[in-house]
Amino acid sequence: MYLADNDDFAETLRECHEIQVSCGAGTKIMTADEIKRDYPFYNLDDIVVGSHNLIDEGYFDGGTLFDWWKRSAREKGVEYIGNEVVSMQRNATGTRVETVTLKSGEVIGCGTVVNASGPRAVLTSRMAGIELPVEPRKRYTYIFDAAQPLDRDLPLTIDPSGIHMRTDGAYYLAGGPPDDDPAVDYDDYEPDHSIWEEKVWPVLANRIPQFEAIKLINSWVGHYAFNTLDQNAILGPHTTVENFIFVNGFSGHGLQQSPAMGRGTSELITYGEYRSLDLSPFNFQRIERNEPFDEKAII
Ligand SMILES: Cc1cc2nc3c(=O)[nH]c(=O)nc-3n(C[C@H](O)[C@H](O)[C@H](O)COP(=O)(O)OP(=O)(O)OC[C@H]3O[C@@H](n4cnc5c(N)ncnc54)[C@H](O)[C@@H]3O)c2cc1C
Repeated sequence: MYLADNDDFAETLRECHEIQVSCGAGTKIMTADEIKRDYPFYNLDDIVVGSHNLIDEGYFDGGTLFDWWKRSAREKGVEYIGNEVVSMQRNATGTRVETVTLKSGEVIGCGTVVNASGPRAVLTSRMAGIELPVEPRKRYTYIFDAAQPLDRDLPLTIDPSGIHMRTDGAYYLAGGPPDDDPAVDYDDYEPDHSIWEEKVWPVLANRIPQFEAIKLINSWVGHYAFNTLDQNAILGPHTTVENFIFVNGFSGHGLQQSPAMGRGTSELITYGEYRSLDLSPFNFQRIERNEPFDEKAII
């Protein structure tokens, strides 16, 4: 339930809706009255429209999916090495990475290097002499209980303030960015309770008055691999270090894109081209040209 509180963003949601429907998704644009009819618990005084889909939508657990992929890759002969890459060595002309060195001292020759190092993407690319506009930014998640639970599921709701909320089993989940959103240290997972008190809870209570009385159960901090150019993925080979491939900068939507990004990258390595989906709009050239490839409705 992506909510718009002004005509400009309502128009953006309508444009996204057209694309989604043309791709077979069941997204609907709902007026405030229609939303109120299906979800009477919302306060929609400031809302113009919402974009919502109940068909083939849901949640999945990223860790479980990842373990499953890892297991099936192993069964097909992929070798996993638990170690840390600490440096890379290029050929004399700098056009290829020839070897990577692990923390244990082991040196591995490489045909292709894929940088899939999440928020640490730039530390890895610098080993090959490449700069990337990707930095770790903190995102806060809160699990809470409501004194008066809602009488139906709370869809994943994206409030115009940038705070999101949804049902999470017997509880509810909410999250969002801090107002001041700097790059942080790679090991900084320090919580900040004032964000809950001063930002998230007031938004929840405004959007759903029943959430005036809620109790925080749990919270955690994660890092987005934030692409400062356009909050979008960087995918495919570098322009001059030709065997260095990026799978980076996913910001807040890497999990849902990972099946397509993984398949596209394997096609690129195997066939030298994308075959299932043309993912070239995500390429590194746009970074060099400083041309953002904006996604218009993301958190
Ligand atoms: C709070 C929060 C909520 C989110 N919600 C959503 C959501 O609802 N939907 C969605 O699609 N996405 C969401 N995301 C984003 C999503 O989690 C990420 O985009 C995704 O996990 C990125 O996957 P990745 O494999 O690129 O990076 P990671 O999962 O970060 O994996 C990178 C790996 O590289 C390893 N690594 C780093 N450096 C080295 C090195 N030198 N040597 C060896 N290994 C190294 C790390 O140890 C790590 O295992 C959310 C993120 C956060 C923080």
